[in-house]
Amino acid sequence: MKQKVNRKASPNAELRGTPIEVSATADSLKFESKVAQKYLNSTNEQKINNHESKYGVPKKPRQVHVSKTNNDNLNNLGVSTANPQAKKMSINANKMNKTKPNKSSALKIVFLGGVGEIGKNMTALEYNDQIIIVDCGLSFPSNDMPGIDVVIPDYTYITENIKKVKGVFITHGHEDHIGALPYFLKECPVTVYGTKLTLTLIANKQKEKQFELKSKTVNPGDVVKAGCFSVEFVRVNHSVAGACALAITTPIGVVFHTGDYKIDFEPIDHNMIDLSRIAEIGKKGVLCMMGESTNCEKEGHTPSESSVGKTLEKIFAENQTRRIFIATFASNIYRVQQIIELAVKYGRKVAVVGRSMLNNIEAAIRIGEFYFDKEVFIDVDKINKYEDKEICVISTGSQGEPASALSRLASGDFNKIEIGKNDTVILSSYPIPGNESSVNRVINNLYKRGAIVIHENVHASGHACQEELKTMISLLKPKYFIPVHGEYRHLKIHSMIAESLGVKPENILIPEIGMVAEVTKNHIMPRDHVQSGERLVDGLGMGDIQSDVLRERKILSEDGLCVVVVTVNGESGELVTDPYLITRGFVYSQEAEKLVEDAKQVLIDALKEFDFKQMKDFNEFRNAVRKPLRNFFYKQTMRTPMILPIIYKG
Ligand SMILES: [Zn+2]
Ligand SMILES: [Zn+2]
Repeated sequence: MKQKVNRKASPNAELRGTPIEVSATADSLKFESKVAQKYLNSTNEQKINNHESKYGVPKKPRQVHVSKTNNDNLNNLGVSTANPQAKKMSINANKMNKTKPNKSSALKIVFLGGVGEIGKNMTALEYNDQIIIVDCGLSFPSNDMPGIDVVIPDYTYITENIKKVKGVFITHGHEDHIGALPYFLKECPVTVYGTKLTLTLIANKQKEKQFELKSKTVNPGDVVKAGCFSVEFVRVNHSVAGACALAITTPIGVVFHTGDYKIDFEPIDHNMIDLSRIAEIGKKGVLCMMGESTNCEKEGHTPSESSVGKTLEKIFAENQTRRIFIATFASNIYRVQQIIELAVKYGRKVAVVGRSMLNNIEAAIRIGEFYFDKEVFIDVDKINKYEDKEICVISTGSQGEPASALSRLASGDFNKIEIGKNDTVILSSYPIPGNESSVNRVINNLYKRGAIVIHENVHASGHACQEELKTMISLLKPKYFIPVHGEYRHLKIHSMIAESLGVKPENILIPEIGMVAEVTKNHIMPRDHVQSGERLVDGLGMGDIQSDVLRERKILSEDGLCVVVVTVNGESGELVTDPYLITRGFVYSQEAEKLVEDAKQVLIDALKEFDFKQMKDFNEFRNAVRKPLRNFFYKQTMRTPMILPIIYKG
């Protein structure tokens, strides 16, 4: 990829980056502890102000760099480290600080998810004894996780430090940003801040997941005080309404987290991303920017959401005698709004299928996100009372999810509607990577039923492409840059873009899950790792599926199971009958009979020498059965089924 160097960092940016060392005096330390006390007191209030937050250099010196030694940095970090040398240094630092107030000058950014992957976004900012969290999302299981419903971040670091947490700030209501909250809030009942639609989408989960939600609604432009942090919500455009970036004022400077965004000059709700506020924040000085990287491989600009409406209108105009079905993401309220408006314009009634679609439309109407006359909607049962040209069906399932309305329509399992020759089906989405084959199956099935399917160019992404990423970096002019929300290649390319715009390479940090980045006014660096990774959720189990369960499921799914029942005379310790073998998912029945007979003989030979009376524990027996049988099966079939031995004392 070619990245042109468009311009150098402005002289101001260079100036902002100049290290300013302030030496500690008795007075300034006293002042510091007062400020700290004030911050601590204010945590109980957590008021939402509509006032502008104070960006840029604080009027009074909030930061005191006692000395720039490693000891200090380690102590500031307060994270246990595996390096014994480091531990020693940390203890020394503690000793040293007994004579001075324990004052930290470093901000920690703890990456718990969403970096090196797309999904389960979660980041913590920590300063002294105060933590705020940005987003708390889930990801969906990959193919090597049989039976797993969802994957959430391992947030042990937060549960262990729950007393420090001042709140969770949610950028927007997509699952990869809110999906882990039902699990997280059960363990960590802290206040959640978000815009109206975001909180409504979170609250919608309460029916199913039963958790308590303590929340405060904010509007774009609001500033929330949370301990020593103040968080300003800044409006951005995205594929869900109510999306915001966060400008977080920390004691050492402003950290700007973009959330997911695009720059849409013609947004459906006429509320464009607040570029002037972003420019203002950039002008006052941004210490560190965390920028989403999803579309950084794509050149140019992301098309406006309203361009999709124009394409859809063309389809409506060309299909006036046919019945129209449109599948899209349930959370894309703007898309849904455009579809309903077109239906009204072309004299069609709207039937909504799919639970999440119904819930989201209902929620959007309830909170005033959009308004439609009730007359517009009809129950799906009533569809057949209307002519084809009078019907528009909005459904879920644009990703080919097997249980979704569209999949069932395509496979003929939807008993209220039958797809036929006079139907035009539009998939207004891109398949998310990994879902392509499911989507293709749905498209094939729809064609088999006689429908016409339109699935190209009827979607606009919600994520910024290269020119928008450049605009954001140029407006913010951050000293430090951290690419987030992307796989490693996205993070790397996004950091190259930042570098081409003048961010110094040593000021760019590519994070990974579990990394603790240390940020001071003088440097940014990876400092430590905390426990992190994946928690797998299976049915009612909450993040408690151990990897051995998964390993067993994989063996069962790949090579099957063989149960061995051995009946032993309780007194003599001899075999009463031949061993009994049951196989499942292992061999085809034709080959099974001979194989099982031979396997029995292998077992009889192996157990000849085995003294059941002297047996110390069950493991001894298990090994005596497993080893010869596994070798035998592997030689015969090249498979290694799970072997489950059982002793029955007769
Ligand atoms: Zn999103
Ligand atoms: Zn996202």
